[in-house]
Amino acid sequence: MRKRRLVVLGATGSIGQSAAKVVDDLPDRLEIAGLAAHRNAALLAEQANKYRPEALCLVDGTKADELRARLAPDYRPRLLFGEDGLIELATSATDADLVLVAIVGTGGLRPALAAIEAGRDLAVASKEILVMAGETVMRAAAAKGVKVLPVDSEHNAIFQCLEGRDPATVRRLILTASGGPFRLWTVAQIAAATPAQALKHPTWDMGQKISIDSATLFNKGLEMIEARWLFDVPMSRVDVVVHPQSIVHSMVEFIDSSVLAQLSHSDMCFPIQYAATWPDRVANRLPPLDFARLGKLEFEPPRTADFPALDLARAAGEAGGTLPAVLNAANEVAVEGFLAGRIPFPRIWEVVEQVMTAHRLVAAPDLGAILVADAEARAAAARAVQPE
Ligand code: MG
Repeated sequence: MRKRRLVVLGATGSIGQSAAKVVDDLPDRLEIAGLAAHRNAALLAEQANKYRPEALCLVDGTKADELRARLAPDYRPRLLFGEDGLIELATSATDADLVLVAIVGTGGLRPALAAIEAGRDLAVASKEILVMAGETVMRAAAAKGVKVLPVDSEHNAIFQCLEGRDPATVRRLILTASGGPFRLWTVAQIAAATPAQALKHPTWDMGQKISIDSATLFNKGLEMIEARWLFDVPMSRVDVVVHPQSIVHSMVEFIDSSVLAQLSHSDMCFPIQYAATWPDRVANRLPPLDFARLGKLEFEPPRTADFPALDLARAAGEAGGTLPAVLNAANEVAVEGFLAGRIPFPRIWEVVEQVMTAHRLVAAPDLGAILVADAEARAAAARAVQPE
């Protein structure tokens, strides 16, 4: 069997490193054709020396000499730099079958659209792509006959539950949320939360931005919008339930009130593997669940009044147009402001709400209008996180 060849955008991040583990686990099925990182030249070189892909991209070109110096002397890959390098790596620089987009923030959008145009299947870990431009991305993928495979654990779970089902039989998508580190905190405690506290996720080991999003529940909000586009269901049929154990990764309720769920340990290798080997299920070395040891799986409603991110995201997803991109951009800037110690924790959603309220929505935007809305929202949010 021909190996499936992967390009990994965001190779040195948390998802990228898990993708490398999946490739290590399934060497007969998968191989790496290209790797891209933002600025971690040392780790990119280490990965590249191991997997020997034909092309590499380092977005931060000022680290080019460091990357060259660290590559093995007998290995001469094609080296690409900058945002254009990402696009080239996702398209013409390799003959990859699947492009895994795992770039933090919005930098994955253009490469993802370019990969679709080039007829490459997409595995999407960067939720910003579908939040900002879900309609555009899914329309382009359908036109090109390209698959968009979800890597986010919740969407991967729903994707698995939906397979082979008639969309007309689906009543609700039920996203599970861990509830984040502040699930049981009082409103007063939440108001005084520090970055160190917010970065401590109870069940998942993730990057900084997504850990803060998990504490505010903006992560779940973004995932609601992502689900709406990936699976083409209205926002009103996307629900959230808190499930502290992070074992049930999400569920689908059908019109007969039966529910299918996907369960596994909370390790991103599970959804990455499913996306990378789809439509096959492949034996691996990941640990199975031991239900007797797990003991219990709990569910509770989300605290929407104390974590306004969910309602803000629902409103953005229902309004559509440029509003989801605005929510996403304002949140990114507010999270940076919080991590830098410039704003208190609850200011994150206050900034997002303020920027959303001031935004003049563009319905059915093209990519240009989305990027303008994104830039304007960033500027507005940056003003809002300045100390008074
Ligand atoms: Mg997720």
